[in-house]
Amino acid sequence: MSKRFADGSLAVDDIDITIADGEFVILVGPSGCGKSTTLNMIAGLEDISSGELRIGGERMNEKAPKDRDIAMVFQSYALYPHMNVRQNIAFPLTLTKMSKSEINAKVDEAARILDLTPFLDRRPSSLSGGQRQRVAMGRAIVRSPKAFLMDEPLSNLDAKLRVQMRTEISRLQDRLRTTTVYVTHDQTEAMTLGDRVVVLRTGRVQQIGTPQELYDTPTNVFVAGFIGSPAMNFLSGNLTSSGVRTALGEIPLADHDEVSGAASSSQSDGSVLVGIRPEHFEDARLVDPAVAARGVTFTAKVDVLESMGSDKYAYFTVDTERAANDALIELAADSGAELGGGQMIARLSPESRAARGEQI
Ligand code: ATP
Repeated sequence: MSKRFADGSLAVDDIDITIADGEFVILVGPSGCGKSTTLNMIAGLEDISSGELRIGGERMNEKAPKDRDIAMVFQSYALYPHMNVRQNIAFPLTLTKMSKSEINAKVDEAARILDLTPFLDRRPSSLSGGQRQRVAMGRAIVRSPKAFLMDEPLSNLDAKLRVQMRTEISRLQDRLRTTTVYVTHDQTEAMTLGDRVVVLRTGRVQQIGTPQELYDTPTNVFVAGFIGSPAMNFLSGNLTSSGVRTALGEIPLADHDEVSGAASSSQSDGSVLVGIRPEHFEDARLVDPAVAARGVTFTAKVDVLESMGSDKYAYFTVDTERAANDALIELAADSGAELGGGQMIARLSPESRAARGEQI
């Protein structure tokens, strides 16, 4: 389905995905890529300009939001300040024909699942951000809808609480197995929560896959640079008969034929963009020489060193000439990747003796 706004802008360009029953799907991408618009079309809060939305096989395009049997959780929680927690959670049920005792039983069950029982009589204003978020979740789960839609539900929480709520959402999903579409711009949330992740950019789907698939086999430079933290390093290279020549040395390629086949279809001069994940660097002094001989050893000066406790992040600059191929430079710049002469980052083990200003 697609969304063209009244001003003519195409916010969502032909997104096509089938979500399985009980699946947790994440829409991720940078600001303005069309995540919220997609979610709002599913919810019925935005009209669908073209294409079709089906839920349980039934066309939903013309159905009012209340008739779609889906519950939405917003970033702002959207709780009623004058109602206590019990009334807030019960609210969607009070609009149905359900009896009071049935409603109470459902609210009690939701509160139990979400650890909200002690707070049922409190007003939202007296709750912490995480507790308010759980009330918003409670209001969604109490309806036992066909699907949950969540729009950046954790973005108002501080970093620690966000991690805690992330695991709570995972646990909730394991328990309820309700089909969920979850919007975030945070690739860590996408990687940890999603059964499958849809990477969007300027309204277009870049790749759909499991978190591991996106990580291991990104389909383009954008996905490669977007998924993974710290982000993948990029530098230009030239294909040789068995590997690729870069400013770090000649890197042997196990899948050389495949790479050169793909490269020759797009870059006839053999120039390629090489992506290296930060964790694929090691401090050569800690590596068995026999193992090191199979890789590439290079020397670089550490510009900045960050000790993270479990890792050391070493930033270094590669002494390289700019890529000869303008198309590659554009491709990299367009995807936000640093190329040639740009700073690189290596994620080293805490045992590494790398130090600022020293060679590694
Ligand atoms: P964010 O993470 O910043 O919320 P997003 O990925 O959710 O971004 P959307 O809110 O879906 O992005 O917006 C997608 C594009 O559509 C943006 O370029 C936005 O400016 C545009 N847009 C959103 N609402 C409207 C509107 N009512 N009229 C015109 N353009 C709109």
